[in-house]
Amino acid sequence: MRDFSGDTRLLALNTATVSKQWSLEQCIDGCVRHGIGGIAPWRDKLDACGAARAAGMIRDAGLRVTGLCRGGMFPAATAEAHQAALDDNRKAIDDAATIGAECLILVVGGLPEGSRDIADARQQVQDGIAAVLDHARASGVPLAIEPLHPMYAADRACVNTLKQANDMCDALGEGVGVAVDVYHLWWDPELEAEIARAGAAGRILGFHVCDWLVPTTDLLLDRGMMGDGVIDIPKIRGWVEAAGYGGCSEVEIFSQNNWWQRDADEVLATCIERHQTVV
Ligand code: ZN
Repeated sequence: MRDFSGDTRLLALNTATVSKQWSLEQCIDGCVRHGIGGIAPWRDKLDACGAARAAGMIRDAGLRVTGLCRGGMFPAATAEAHQAALDDNRKAIDDAATIGAECLILVVGGLPEGSRDIADARQQVQDGIAAVLDHARASGVPLAIEPLHPMYAADRACVNTLKQANDMCDALGEGVGVAVDVYHLWWDPELEAEIARAGAAGRILGFHVCDWLVPTTDLLLDRGMMGDGVIDIPKIRGWVEAAGYGGCSEVEIFSQNNWWQRDADEVLATCIERHQTVV
């Protein structure tokens, strides 16, 4: 495994981690001051800054863009909503290309309004990705399916295991890969084998880290700092690297009662320290 002690360039800041404290401009500046090598913006912050302006700032700062969050949300109850989702994904692909993102993260979406048919939702996801895939390929933006923990199957992502994501990638072909987020996948008994499978296909596009707190007090906004929870992060990183992944660890922490309440520079310093010791 790679040695991260003393290294900050292989750490990337997902802007969600300081989403309540900093704008994208401040995140870029913070990464530079702390020596963090990568950034992964969310689209609300990117829109507030302007994609072209952000692209220039990120380039001047010498940061890599480990991903743009997010596209996806494909399942829809009406033809209008379906078309709006495809249009939004094409716009996200364009923005990802503008800022030189290594991938567009897909939070694929859950059940459409009024539906109980999760198999149909999953098919809509696959069809939706297929519909925008030519545009992604032409734009040079790989699409990263991010399986989310099953507690989000209804409202955020009906792709919940890496096996499902790998199967979808097999069906879709070139230009689609996966993002491995320890928060969503740590519990899966098939994780090691599916990481190896993804690596063999050359499709691991991102590695996201945070931690699973016990107890978790909010399904969405109570993620832990690496080392504060129960995930064996080094073990999973070892599997990912053994599968050929050589990119950054992207820290993505939604934490309304803890890390979002702290000074953002303290948050970044803690991310660096934990990345060097427990990731
Ligand atoms: Zn993630």
